[in-house]
Amino acid sequence: MRKILLYLFLIVLCAFLIPILFTIQFATANADVANLDSPITTETETPQFEPYDYKEYATIKLLHHKTGEIEELGIDEYLYGVVSAEMPVDFELEALKAQALVARTYTLYKVKGNNGKHVDADICDDSECCQAWISKEDRFAKWDANVQEENWNKIVNAVNSTAGKIITYNGEPINAFFHSNSGGSTEIPLNVWGGSGYPYLQVVETAGEDAYSQYSSEVELTTSELIEKIKAVHTEFQIDFTQADAIQILEYTDSGRIKTIKFGNVNLSGVEARTIFGLRSANFKVEQIGDKIKFTVIGYGHGVGMSQTGADALAKQGSNCEDIIKHFYIGVEIANI
Ligand SMILES: [Zn+2]
Repeated sequence: MRKILLYLFLIVLCAFLIPILFTIQFATANADVANLDSPITTETETPQFEPYDYKEYATIKLLHHKTGEIEELGIDEYLYGVVSAEMPVDFELEALKAQALVARTYTLYKVKGNNGKHVDADICDDSECCQAWISKEDRFAKWDANVQEENWNKIVNAVNSTAGKIITYNGEPINAFFHSNSGGSTEIPLNVWGGSGYPYLQVVETAGEDAYSQYSSEVELTTSELIEKIKAVHTEFQIDFTQADAIQILEYTDSGRIKTIKFGNVNLSGVEARTIFGLRSANFKVEQIGDKIKFTVIGYGHGVGMSQTGADALAKQGSNCEDIIKHFYIGVEIANI
């Protein structure tokens, strides 16, 4: 009888002891990992971040538009590839963080309102369609070997330090348009696409954008090239270059871009002229020099939303990523998803 009681006692003891021992072991293991990963403070080391608990949008299905393959990725893992494809890595960390916020917001905006654009995927890697994305392998191939790890860590840092955060207006993810260089002043969507209904997209001015190579450019066409390009779109086009008013800017937008410009008997919007002549933006001057037409262009891109070089300029002036976002998107909040 005593033996039975002793056995029973031992069984009960084991039932309690074994889980306790396991717990201690696991706790020790975690602590070891934590110790190993605790910040090693060199410039290039990626600081460690607590993984964000994405409840609803933890993964996204990415369509590779060239192969048609669909890949499921963790949202932030996906964003490493977006941020490194969309912004130069030598930009300030706060600018890269702003780009990470924009990219995560855009992703959520697409995931929530895909409109059946991609049937089995949330988003694709074609910048013309959704947003650019590059694999780590392809990205590394474009960087010098001695800066690959350092560059990648900077991207990972920008994404991880903003994990879970998006830009909202009235509690909803914004349509986070961005472009390369605003030329000092952003544009409203109405003047680019004719649409409206984005109260957070206004004309805002940013100092320091002229310090970037994206700020100014030139395009020179012969008069016959110009005629050919306009005729391809407007078959009725005629022009007499000897007339003083052969080319005339008729109207500017509030941001200083061209709203309407007249070439001979045809009126073009600035945006249409940009497309026809392959200009970097709709902010340009035009002059005739002999049989040449010279366009002098300011800025790069449609000009709506965040300017990337503007973000970098603001970061250099001491703005953090939230300041940058609130500079370019009026009345927005940074919120957790
Ligand atoms: Zn797409």
